[in-house]
Amino acid sequence: MSEIHKLLARQLKRNGVSGFSGEKERALLSSISNAYIENELEIELLENSLFLTSSELNERNETLKYQLAELTETKNQLQESVSVLNAMFDSTGEVIIVYDVNGVIAHTNSMGVDFFKENGVNDYQHWSAMLDILKFPDLAFHLKQKLERNLMQQLDGVLEFNNNRFFKYRSLPQVIEGELIGRVWCFRDVTLEKEREDLIEHQAYHDALTGLPNRNLLLDRVTHALTIAKRAGTQIAILFVDLDDFKRVNDTEGHKAGDELLIQLVSRIQTRIREQDTLSRLGGDEFVILLEAVEDIEKVKVLCEEFLSILSEPFVINGRQHFVSSSIGISLFPSHDHIAEQLILKADMAMYQAKQSGKNTFVLYDARLEKQAKLQVKIERELRKALKIGELQPYFQPKIDLKTNKIVGAEVLMRWFKSDGTSVPPDTFIPIAESTGLITQIGRYAIESAFTHLARWQETGQTDLKLAVNLSIIEFQDKELIQHILEIIDTSGIPGSRLIIELTESIFMENKDQISRIMQRLRSRGVAFALDDFGKGYSSFSYLQMLPIDYLKIDKSFLTDVCSNKQSAAIARTIIDIGHNLELGVIAEGIEDQQTLDYVTSEKCETAQGYFLYRPMNSQAFTRLLEVQET
Ligand code: C2E
Ligand code: CA
Ligand code: CA
Repeated sequence: MSEIHKLLARQLKRNGVSGFSGEKERALLSSISNAYIENELEIELLENSLFLTSSELNERNETLKYQLAELTETKNQLQESVSVLNAMFDSTGEVIIVYDVNGVIAHTNSMGVDFFKENGVNDYQHWSAMLDILKFPDLAFHLKQKLERNLMQQLDGVLEFNNNRFFKYRSLPQVIEGELIGRVWCFRDVTLEKEREDLIEHQAYHDALTGLPNRNLLLDRVTHALTIAKRAGTQIAILFVDLDDFKRVNDTEGHKAGDELLIQLVSRIQTRIREQDTLSRLGGDEFVILLEAVEDIEKVKVLCEEFLSILSEPFVINGRQHFVSSSIGISLFPSHDHIAEQLILKADMAMYQAKQSGKNTFVLYDARLEKQAKLQVKIERELRKALKIGELQPYFQPKIDLKTNKIVGAEVLMRWFKSDGTSVPPDTFIPIAESTGLITQIGRYAIESAFTHLARWQETGQTDLKLAVNLSIIEFQDKELIQHILEIIDTSGIPGSRLIIELTESIFMENKDQISRIMQRLRSRGVAFALDDFGKGYSSFSYLQMLPIDYLKIDKSFLTDVCSNKQSAAIARTIIDIGHNLELGVIAEGIEDQQTLDYVTSEKCETAQGYFLYRPMNSQAFTRLLEVQET
């Protein structure tokens, strides 16, 4: 028999049972003992499991405690975040509105509330409240439609509201775990920014003074007009308008007056153009007019005539009348070009031609003109250089006294000898010098040359010789040049009375008072003035009235056929009479033959010059001539 369970053995012993002899009793004892063992095993198992459960519980409890602490922490953090968020919500400076999926406001910040209030809306719970305050409510529908196509998209843009304020918006879906629960709208007031941008944009495309389109916008418009004209088969005209004497107004009356004149001019032009035409200012006194759907070029010419006439009427500024004229160049599509810049450039070239051909006129672009214009630009460049390197030389054309037949002086005539041996005639370079301002340098040089030669000839005893220098009226605008002349008179030791200034008229003179004052100043130093080419210019007589003149120089065109043409003879006689009646000396120029010389002598002109007498010559030749005369 196996060993009896210890507890059973003890119980048997306590009860005095010592053993079992029978088979049955032993079997019973054995099974009881087994039961004890099993029981004990079970108890052990139970105990074990109880122990396990309690330690697990302990562990769980720890975890829970830890989790609770974590949760509390998270809650605190969340509360903090929410408060920060709320504060931010209100302090972004933006209007924030959160709509739920039904379009009802779920949240809005204080700016949002103010926003609706400012727009006079009290009931703003539903998104449709926006419709009442939007300047263009259709836009809201458009946005709604757009959203319906894709609810998850982000929207950005600008909306204008009834109170004329602009808001930039951004709208994002509000999603939790993949589910759309609403939409957040942020609005930022960009009215000021927009105003600033609009201003900058306006400035980029408009001229500040007149508010007219500037070159950028003009280019846009011409390009656009070209597209339409190409499709419709219509014509376009570009008119390039440039004032002739604007600089003078600016220089003498100040920029304010100049600005005022430009503004008046714009309103004059505007009365003559159609709605669809564009008047633009390129800067300074340059304006370009774009005429669309031009039917007939003749009509454009008529319009140009009108412009010339309305622009030549006086402008009243500061109570004074100012006269300006203008030059207009015309280019056409499709005849001249099909590119915007080129069309404008060609109108510009034509305008330049208008200036060259005497101003106050209009010229239609012509490819030959372009060639000529290019040549002029070339000459201008070369002339600048010529002045620097001394390619200009004074020539002297002797003048004789018709009573004594003696040389009493000479006219200084500029000659341009180029290093390549060719020469450029003054009739070519003087007008270019005048239009580019180089003329004052030539004037300065001519005066200086006159005085150096007078000084040289004085040394050889020529103390009465007078030199005549040509100065165009424009040069009288140049204060420095005038100052220079006065200084030379003061420092050269040659009296001013040895200088005659021949006034040549190339532009219409406006500042007669100022010019007259300058002339008086020079006259007080003895300088005399001759009105050149008398009878040729359109304002000879008005000059005669307004300016302190000493001599009339009768234009050679009146003398060429005095002997064969009675009419010319009559005109010449009248001019000579006018001169004498006004007690002016009369100089006859362009004497080409004996008869003409006899004629002007008989008409009692004082002085004469011409190829028949002497051609213009260089200083050595003139010096020799004087020496011969002395002997
Ligand atoms: P202008 O002042 O009328 O000068 C007279 C022009 O007639 C000169 O031409 C002279 O050479 C020319 N001439 C002289 N006698 C006769 C003649 O018998 N028959 C003909 N057919 N012509 C004669 P030039 O030297 O070619 O000068 C042309 C113009 O250029 C001058 O006309 C003057 O207006 C201008 N000019 C010349 N030098 C200067 C200058 O230094 N300054 C300015 N501002 N202009 C000048
Ligand atoms: Ca002259
Ligand atoms: Ca002349």
